[in-house]
Amino acid sequence: MTRSIPKVLALSALAIAATSTASAQDDPKATEKWEPVPKVVTPGSKDSAPPSDAVVLFDGRDLAGWEMSKDHSPARWKVHDGIVTVDKTTGNIQTKQRFRDYQLHLEWQIPKNITGEGQGRGNSGVFLASTGPGDEGYELQIMDSFENKTYVNGQAASVYKQTAPLVNAARRPGDWQTYDIVWTAPVFAADGSVKSPAYVTVFHNGVLVQNHTELTGETFYIGKPKYKAYTDAPIKLQAHGDHSEPLSFRNIWVRPLN
Ligand code: MG
Repeated sequence: MTRSIPKVLALSALAIAATSTASAQDDPKATEKWEPVPKVVTPGSKDSAPPSDAVVLFDGRDLAGWEMSKDHSPARWKVHDGIVTVDKTTGNIQTKQRFRDYQLHLEWQIPKNITGEGQGRGNSGVFLASTGPGDEGYELQIMDSFENKTYVNGQAASVYKQTAPLVNAARRPGDWQTYDIVWTAPVFAADGSVKSPAYVTVFHNGVLVQNHTELTGETFYIGKPKYKAYTDAPIKLQAHGDHSEPLSFRNIWVRPLN
């Protein structure tokens, strides 16, 4: 007797649940969500123009938002004709503002008269999080990969020394090229261990080349990638020490995601 009462109660509860499930299945409104409403963002006037909520990092006028990575002094690359050209004698530059997760758009151009071969041909890079003054951080490679052979996890649009691009979407030297990047920063526990790794998605000239790629750590020229705890970091552009003609950038903007 004492055992049958809960059974009856359980059965009626099941019946109620079945009724409400049936009505939910009949009601198209049951699967509609109305809150929270996504905020309105006005897209750029053409595809590559910054949308209304973007932080414009370089609009062709000056490098006010940038500094030398090594000593935080004003960025000394050459701005001319609405573009900025790498000055290899000065070093890497980075944003003054720091970021965690973001969407980044940037455009780059290998000079038409580029010389050199392999990694020594239009090499630069965008460090998705610059964790130190030199080449520390997470590098998405920039270089001439139009009919220019090198190791595949070092060609353009590779996560340098980690993950080759899904395809080679490079344009020929002299043409402007675009990167559209979604960066999910790694998350670290209080003791510095990795709670969740970094991920990157990249479109190169509109073509998917990195699809939610998991990173195994920061970029190293020699040795395996490894993580070092950070919370937010600048975005850095590389002045690579090869002897080929320097490349240029234009139209750089970022949308912080948190
Ligand atoms: Mg590089």
